[in-house]
Order: sequence, then structure tokens, then C-alpha cells
Amino acid sequence: MSICVVGHSNPDTDSVAAAISFANLLKAEGSDAVACMQSDAASLNPESTVVLEKFGMAAPEEIKDAAGKEIALVDHSDIGQAPANIGDAEVVAIVDHHKVGDITTNNPILFNAQPVGCTCTVLNEMYKIKGIDIPKDIAGVMLCAILSDTVNFKSPTCTDADKAAVADLKTIAGVDDTDALFMDMLKAKSSVDGVPAKDLLFRDYKDFDMNGNKVGVGQLELATLDQVAAIRDDLYKAMEEVKADGRHSVLLMLTDVVKEGTDLVVVSDDNALIEKAFDGKLDGTSMWVDGMMSRKKQTVPNLQKAFGC
Ligand code: MG
Ligand code: MG
Ligand code: MG
Repeated sequence: MSICVVGHSNPDTDSVAAAISFANLLKAEGSDAVACMQSDAASLNPESTVVLEKFGMAAPEEIKDAAGKEIALVDHSDIGQAPANIGDAEVVAIVDHHKVGDITTNNPILFNAQPVGCTCTVLNEMYKIKGIDIPKDIAGVMLCAILSDTVNFKSPTCTDADKAAVADLKTIAGVDDTDALFMDMLKAKSSVDGVPAKDLLFRDYKDFDMNGNKVGVGQLELATLDQVAAIRDDLYKAMEEVKADGRHSVLLMLTDVVKEGTDLVVVSDDNALIEKAFDGKLDGTSMWVDGMMSRKKQTVPNLQKAFGC
């Protein structure tokens, strides 16, 4: 029986790349293993799709039910993120970089979880220890996984081990410019092409009650503000429509992940209040707020203060 190597549900690039990488390592050691994912290739997220294309790799095969199978988990160890009926499977290995989850086993297994930024960083070390060469295309997708999980080293989860693994893998994969590679991935992830303005506004949107006022805040993470230059008027119209449906304000955070700030688009009954909240001045319909990246940690608390919550 082949070992199905699989990452978490709603797979990200690490879950896909780590499944490919660990399946290859198991095969190199003489096991029968196959890379799997909890998605069909057509519904895989745009970033991972671009990554697989870039290095000429096929998507892992879809697994829907783990019952009766031998399973190796990567990038998670939680029952809730594992394939259906994981309790009726035999989990034979786990490679991860998260807190230990709630999977249990009847037998001792290979369990390698480390506090680093990406599962592929752990796998790179495993290849090194075992003295097995990583094929060029697999090194490429592992490299992308580390750049993605660590947000190109900017995430607080990034460690020196992740940076060292990137240095190893870029050489094997023949990639000179990892910043350019990260930008390509970010553009794929944040693509707005052909998406209706209202869908973009609601892509990552939440309503809040601010002292009796309904305030909506959406966010689009972008590689560059140029990505939305041509659709700003449409976005603004969509915001006006949403505001007209009983809201005090609708804000849209156009977050430039590279410049690390947000162009905050505002439709409000009280522009002065919003300006005060962010200590800024609207220039037309928006204002640049340097360093604003997080709705939860930055935007909402400042609004709550301004609304006297
Ligand atoms: Mg993940
Ligand atoms: Mg990960
Ligand atoms: Mg991730």
C-alpha cells in the first residue's frame, strides 16, 4: 500500500510542496509514497497553481477520505484539518511546524515538528541528514513554500533556519532572485483581474458595531497599488452602495505588502472622524497610512477609539 502524504485542508503552498517533497524523500528511502492534497487541481489556490507551473510540477492527487489508508501528515497534526476519517487511517509519519495537534497513533512514528517558519525548512534538513539530493523542481517548490509561509522573511515566525534553507534551495533550484519570485507569487495570490468590484470589496470584509454605528472594513492585500489603479472608481461605487445599506462608514484597506502600508479608501458620514482615527488627511477618497497592515491589530482598535467605544 502506498503512503499518502498530505497537508491540511484548504491547502496552501507549504501543504502542497511539503507533500511533494516528503513523498519523494520516502520514495528515495524505499517506501511506496504518493503526494496528495485536499483539493482538486482546478480549485487549488492561485499562488500554489503558479508555483507548480513555474517549476513544471504536476499537482498532487486529491484525497477525500483517509479510511483504511496509510497516511503521512505534513504542515498540520490536527484531526480537524486532516482528511475525512483520519481516525480510521494509520498515521505513519508527521512533519510539521505548528503546535502539536490532537492526532494520536497506536504505534511509534516518525514525528518531526520544529518551531520554524515552514514545513519545507524541516524537510530540507531531513534530506541533508539522510544525504539524499533534492531534485531541482522539488527544491523550487520547497523554496516557494518557505517564501510564502515567511512572507519573504517578514513574518515574525521566520527563523535563521528558514533563511539558511532558502539559501540551500535557491542554489539547487537555480533561482537567482528570490524577491522577484516572491513578487510573482504575491501577484498571483492578490490577482484582481476580472473580479467584480463588489466581490473584491467582500473578499475579506467584516462589519463592526462602533458605539451603535455600523462600520464595514474590507481589505485587499496587494503586491502594488497599481493592481487596482484601473478599478478604483468601481471599488468606490461598490463601497457607496454598501454604505447606503444602513452603514455609518465603509472603509477599504488597499494594503501594499511590499511598501508595508495601506491606502485607506473612505466612504463615511463623518470623514473628519476617520481622519482623526488614523491621524491623517484624506487626499480625494483615500489616505495613505504608513505601517498599516492588520485590520484586527491596527485599523479596528483605532476606529473603536475614535468612535468612543
Ligand atoms: Mg500551511
Ligand atoms: Mg506551513
Ligand atoms: Mg501559510
